[in-house]
Amino acid sequence: MPDGVPHLKPRTLRDPAALVEAGLAPPEAAAGLERVAEHFAMAITPAVQALIDPADPLDPIARQYVPDVAELVTLPDERSDPTSDAPFTPVKGVVHRYPDRALLKPLLACPVYCRFCFRREVVGPDGGLLSEAELDAAIDWFAATPQVREAILTGGDPLMLSARRLEHIIRRLSAIPHLDIIRIHSRVPVAAPERVSDALAAALSTDKAMFLCVHANHAREFSPMAREALRRLQHAGVTLLGQSVLLRGVNDSAQALEDLFRAMLAAQVKPYYLHQLDRAPGTARFEVPITEGRALLRQLRGRLSGLAWPTYVLDLPNGAGKAPLGPDFTQAESDGWTVKGPLDHRDYPYPER
Ligand code: SF4
Repeated sequence: MPDGVPHLKPRTLRDPAALVEAGLAPPEAAAGLERVAEHFAMAITPAVQALIDPADPLDPIARQYVPDVAELVTLPDERSDPTSDAPFTPVKGVVHRYPDRALLKPLLACPVYCRFCFRREVVGPDGGLLSEAELDAAIDWFAATPQVREAILTGGDPLMLSARRLEHIIRRLSAIPHLDIIRIHSRVPVAAPERVSDALAAALSTDKAMFLCVHANHAREFSPMAREALRRLQHAGVTLLGQSVLLRGVNDSAQALEDLFRAMLAAQVKPYYLHQLDRAPGTARFEVPITEGRALLRQLRGRLSGLAWPTYVLDLPNGAGKAPLGPDFTQAESDGWTVKGPLDHRDYPYPER
């Protein structure tokens, strides 16, 4: 373990009784939370517990992971598979939505279970580890689909696999000539950074372009341990990207987003996507309207380096893909454009030549 690492509380909280014991829920909430736990997995790792201020009822880290009885209410427009993975699954563990890339989901377990997760109906501690035969079939599908140039490992969280298993998957994907890029989506570097051992980082070694997209929603998630884990991945030749979800009560202010993107850049993580919330069951308390999301990002333009600017996207619910949501700084005119200045927010005419 690196020097300067804070002492961690010893265990992952996996049920409401443990939450109460840790002071993250009042005893009178336990019965309601038991009902939530019957539907949706929960886990709060020691690393995440260390980031939570239990005295703050509005703590933005706790809000991401501590269950709430509001999750028992499913609104009519909430879907169990909001991004439509199922209809785009040619073989178990693969999702092929875009022509040139496809997802590989080797397991459906995560280090933590985010209360707003778009795959919350399928992720869980016992879920979805592909058998050897199923993994073979999934990798054979990639090998037999030459238009696919990028394999995106997701889940669940691929960094929950053992270093040996991960190395096996990366090696097999690396042997497919038409694949140029391997990308991994993971919460592990911020939620369970102790998992990122030298062996796990070495397992990602490949001649292909290797990207790791770390999911983080608040600046505080970039703890010293998380930054150490990210550095280990960088040293192994992995390019780091960041993805976040715009979440009510977590990062729904210009300052919180600025702090988040600055923390990412300081850790050499390029902000890549800011996701509009996917309407999964029981997640309505997290939704920030698109109009508000666009206004928040508009405030950041000019205030932050362009390096910090993610693409704000909505995953369309019918599987039609991710659409950029702006904000737009241009308006079409008969002779050209009106362009909004990012610093003074004034409109400037810019005729076409
Ligand atoms: S880590 Fe990702 S897949 Fe797992 S619960 Fe959180 S959002 Fe869902």
